[in-house]
Amino acid sequence: MPANPPFAPALKAALNAAIAYVDGLDDRAVPATATLKELRATLQKPLNDAAMDPKTVIQELVRDTENGFVGSAGGRFFAWGIGGSLPAALAADWLTSAWDQNAVLCACSPAAAVVEEVVGEWLKNLLRLPSSASFALVSGCQMAHATCLAAARNALLTVRGWDVEKQGLFGAPKIRVLASNRHGSIERAVRLLGIGEAQVTDLPLDEHAHPLTGELHHLLECDSGAPTILVLQAGDLNTGAFDDYATLVPLAKRFGAWVHLDAAFGLWVAASPNYRHLLDGAETADSWATDGHKWLNVPYDCGYAFVAHPEAHRRAMSQNSPYMVYAEDARDQFQWTPEWSRRARGFATYAALRQLGRSGVAHLIERCCAHARVLVEGLANLPGVQVLSQPLINQGLVRFLDPSPGATEQDHDAHTDEIIRRILAQGEVFFRGTTWRGRRAMRVSVLNWQTSEAHVQLAITSIQQALEASRQPNSTHRLEASENRI
Ligand SMILES: *Cc1c(COP(=O)(O)O)cnc(C)c1O
Repeated sequence: MPANPPFAPALKAALNAAIAYVDGLDDRAVPATATLKELRATLQKPLNDAAMDPKTVIQELVRDTENGFVGSAGGRFFAWGIGGSLPAALAADWLTSAWDQNAVLCACSPAAAVVEEVVGEWLKNLLRLPSSASFALVSGCQMAHATCLAAARNALLTVRGWDVEKQGLFGAPKIRVLASNRHGSIERAVRLLGIGEAQVTDLPLDEHAHPLTGELHHLLECDSGAPTILVLQAGDLNTGAFDDYATLVPLAKRFGAWVHLDAAFGLWVAASPNYRHLLDGAETADSWATDGHKWLNVPYDCGYAFVAHPEAHRRAMSQNSPYMVYAEDARDQFQWTPEWSRRARGFATYAALRQLGRSGVAHLIERCCAHARVLVEGLANLPGVQVLSQPLINQGLVRFLDPSPGATEQDHDAHTDEIIRRILAQGEVFFRGTTWRGRRAMRVSVLNWQTSEAHVQLAITSIQQALEASRQPNSTHRLEASENRI
């Protein structure tokens, strides 16, 4: 083998495998069909001593992983909050790897720096955020929270005469976090930033899962001098609920709080004239975190942080090192991001936004919401299905009731989990469960650009089959036999 093997054979093998994969998504089982044991048996090889031909490495990687993938890239996947990849975004993502630019500084890659400048402006405009906001392209909403809350920490402590970047939090005024419908990523950001989970208070909610304004007012008043971050939700992961920003943001600001929005997928409804009213007032928050890899259908990993106070954002992130080469007339990305060396992830977003255009993003949002509605309506017509939450946007919740006479809530919980297992074992569509208000439920989440009306009908049929099969005698035994494959 030559000392420097050429690129082309490995890249062509990857191209062929990738096309076969994405074109075959409709024909394969959505859950992984290989067990962990089978995957380990093929992948856990002793590390070879001698070099291998790159094309062989790729071909064997494709062969050995083949049945270990979950078909989340395709249209029959309705679990969690996972989108697919638009063709232009996926292709741009490949090129990002081929170009292998370090998007840390403009000096390392002028094209990557300018693309990020453009993407940031496009996104603020599309998502109806203030044009003066600063932004960062990060690995996901988790790191967008960390970025935004680092800016919040800086701003809240700067006005109290405390330089948190220099002094850290030892001896600093205690920051408290009041949160509505908090996703676990908020807790992790708070931990990473040294604020600590103990400083987080979950706001009491009404029956629609909206924070009680009076309670928030009371909490703000109780300790009105404390540096406070209010975390609001745009698109709760179970129900898709939005908070009442027009009331809550001004209230929090009256007490000098920083308002952060967890809008991993919910912020995207700003692109649709039919849904954007759900975000009324959200543009007055101090920071916003969202994702590209969910509803925009950009490949992993891609999230966006936006901050209404660029100085605080910059103070929290920027650093000067003598060996770096700073741009005077361009945006050095690492002054805004938590990472140093980083992937030029602007290209994939740039390509996704151009492929769809403004109207395409709006259609994607509206289509996914319509599919979620039809899916949940279709399930509501099946015997034994209880709808816990109708889709407000693209998320719904259903529960499968145990038909036995005298069945308890616990029986319905167990039945719901059993039906989800059966759906997965059938392999045609993919759903997962959640616990919502103390009850087991199945989540319906539609985020993939490829999901079609036919996929939605297939999902309804597949769930109907699972329900019918569960009523057959001896059905439990048959399920267990196949269960270890999922
Ligand atoms: C997915 C999600 C997150 C975490 O985002 P990542 O991109 O996975 O880091 C945060 N909040 C909500 C509401 C989410 O749905």
